Amino acid sequence: SSSKATPRKSVKAQTINTSEASYSKADIKQAIVRHLHSTLGTDENKADNHAWWKATSAAMQELVLERLRTTQKTHYMNDTRAVHYFSAEFLMGRLLSNNMHNFNLFETADAALKELGVELADVLEEEPDMALGNGGLGRLAACFIDSLATMELPAIGYGIHYEHGLFRQEIKNGAQIERPDSWRDYGNPWEICRPESIQEVPLFGYVETKYGENGRVQKEWHPGNIVKGVPWDIPIVGYGAKTVNVLRLWQSESSDYFNWDVFNSGGYVDAQRENIQAETISKVLYPNDETEAGKELRLIQQYFFCACSLKDIIRRYKRAHGDDWSRFSEQVVIQLNDTHPAIAIPELMRILVDRAELDWDTAWGICSKTFAYTNHTLLPEALERWPVRMIEKILPRHIEIIYEINHRFLTLVEKKWPGDNVMKAKLSIIEESTEKMVRMGNLSVIGSFAVNGVAEIHSKLVKENLFPEFEELWPGKLTNVTNGITPRRWLKACNPLLSELIGKKIGDDWPSDLPRLDKLSEFADNKTFQNQFMKVKQKNKEALAAEIKHQTGISVDTKAIFDIQIKRLHEYKRQHLNLLHIMALYRRLLENPDYDMHPRVFIFGAKAAPGYTLAKDIIFAINKVADKINNDPRVNHKIKVVFLPNYRVSLAEKMIPAADVSQQISTAGKEASGTGNMKLALNGAVTIGTLDGANIEIAEEVGDDNIFIFGMTVDEVTKLSTKGYNPYDIYYQNKELKAVLDWLDSDYFTPGQPGALSSLKNSMLSGGDPYMCLADFESYSEANKALDSAYRDKPRWAKMAILNTAKMGKFTSDRSIADYVERIWKLTPCEVN
Ligand code: PLP
Repeated sequence: SSSKATPRKSVKAQTINTSEASYSKADIKQAIVRHLHSTLGTDENKADNHAWWKATSAAMQELVLERLRTTQKTHYMNDTRAVHYFSAEFLMGRLLSNNMHNFNLFETADAALKELGVELADVLEEEPDMALGNGGLGRLAACFIDSLATMELPAIGYGIHYEHGLFRQEIKNGAQIERPDSWRDYGNPWEICRPESIQEVPLFGYVETKYGENGRVQKEWHPGNIVKGVPWDIPIVGYGAKTVNVLRLWQSESSDYFNWDVFNSGGYVDAQRENIQAETISKVLYPNDETEAGKELRLIQQYFFCACSLKDIIRRYKRAHGDDWSRFSEQVVIQLNDTHPAIAIPELMRILVDRAELDWDTAWGICSKTFAYTNHTLLPEALERWPVRMIEKILPRHIEIIYEINHRFLTLVEKKWPGDNVMKAKLSIIEESTEKMVRMGNLSVIGSFAVNGVAEIHSKLVKENLFPEFEELWPGKLTNVTNGITPRRWLKACNPLLSELIGKKIGDDWPSDLPRLDKLSEFADNKTFQNQFMKVKQKNKEALAAEIKHQTGISVDTKAIFDIQIKRLHEYKRQHLNLLHIMALYRRLLENPDYDMHPRVFIFGAKAAPGYTLAKDIIFAINKVADKINNDPRVNHKIKVVFLPNYRVSLAEKMIPAADVSQQISTAGKEASGTGNMKLALNGAVTIGTLDGANIEIAEEVGDDNIFIFGMTVDEVTKLSTKGYNPYDIYYQNKELKAVLDWLDSDYFTPGQPGALSSLKNSMLSGGDPYMCLADFESYSEANKALDSAYRDKPRWAKMAILNTAKMGKFTSDRSIADYVERIWKLTPCEVN
């Protein structure tokens, strides 16, 4: 029987006893060998690491699928309300290690493989990352579905089965080169194709207006093309392996629908072209992070996965409730991860009004109780707007529905602000510019019952700057859910040495109850514990140093400060501010060889969107400055600069445990939350950062003594730009900064090629320095000095590092999910026995 969507006992990230290992070492060994023989057709003597990876994954997948069946049966029997997490991106990374940890079988499998003469660590390295996302937004979705399964909440992730995920980055002569990512070339042991749940998606064509007997206007969409959506399921194992939920990703294929006509009339080649077009839809992930390109194929991708997912949800709902739509929004909540899936709102209206023949108000009543929307950014270039004429062409019925939603909404606006046409123009879903555009953010707010930002400061800015009138119109609709990260992947699995040390000190319950880490605070001043903690850090640094040597040939001193900035390359994230400071240090050392500083290794990882020229220029500049410094014997015992190519989840898992310092230096007001900041702090890195995004909440947790905050606040940034910011004022006033910027114009770093780095200087001077690097430089430089002296005080630094780990309890994604459940989703856990 069904349960009502009433608030129930609150969901807490409670302690979860990992279920008894259902496999012994002997069982695992046997299963692996069995798969080696009968799934892969090889044997122990012939198998390479790749074959061992596949066989080991297949052995794990047996357990996974068993729990998946039980979970699905239980959810079906209980007719549970479920959350449907719609996201164009899921940045999953590798799954084998994670699944083993969640089944509490990691050590057992390690031992089993050892007996077979195989190193688990080598086997794990064979797995390609599932990089079906760009960065923070996609990785957040991955952390959330991990937490949902861990907390035994009924949930499905819905997305796109991209054939090619985010490009693989190579660095050639300092510049980024993009290579295709082919994560499925040799098969993927985790995904299951579900041809029984294929859906058809209409596109293009025209709308016919009909008049029914009762005078009812009936709309019928005659699509010009129909594509097939083939679902691939990836099981998502919760910690303790009680619940196994599903991530369902749609792959596009041509349907037979239209092609036969073309084919039969002799158009064989044209028929083939139709095939290619359909398959193109899920071919490749758009590599833009925080920018919208406004490309037709992207809109089709968005509609494609939303239409497939809604049909899937409705099929499941109808199985239990037939044509009774009255309980739909009690059973189904859909979370929109940014506006990428916002087209689902008019799509559900279309299904309810045109197909189910509900009247508009009833349909809208259902629709607007089903969707909730997460806003991820305030950056204007990231706010999605689609040309009306593009939607008209691809989705002719949806544009009518969008206009109808807007018409009714503007009536409401007229009631609230009579005669205020400026207000109407501002809140309208349609932007009346030279080319009429559909504002997906406005559509999402209007069509959702809840809207959240992703950190306190960000949600406040959403309310005050982005959607203030919506807050006035619907008080309480806008809320906050601060992002989080799964401590299973981002501490337990990626940092086994620290996990073991923590376990010895405070027990093994922390992975599902992260606030317990606070117990470590008691030992922050304890000499022995400080030594143990820093010894782990040292070992992790040695491992990363080996990786750096292997990847780049650069030798680094593991006694140096490992200073890490890892995130997508963006001007607002200010990797170039970091670079200016590195160049300033270089100058100081050249001018004064005794310049007092602890040796420091600056380590970067970052992909630039292929079309983002300045971002690529910054990567080039980092690499050129690195070359010079690393080969300059006057300074290379004090500074090294490393750019590790192809930053991705599996590389993050190697870098984060080794970080002493976490660079989180975005211009205040620009970074919605950040999640890399949480991962680094959790692993004992100390943050140098601005008061932006979740840095503010991290500072609140760790205390001012355990973080290096610098730079302008959001208010100060606003004040300065209102007053008029002129970077030349700072350029002429700060001699060191001027010298550093002028250095970029010379050929010092690019011998024989003067001007090769000038675009950077120009962006920060004649370009107006839109992210205010120069304005924050001095404060950044001072914070770096404070950091340097803190590091040299060993006990002080150890204490800071320990407290960073100890105080990260708030940032488990279990807490984020508990907030969503309480404030938005109103879900109850469903025990799976
Ligand atoms: N890319 C990867 C692979 C990550 O793991 C993360 C961390 O959450 C991000 C990007 C986002 O990093 P940030 O929050 O620093 O932008």
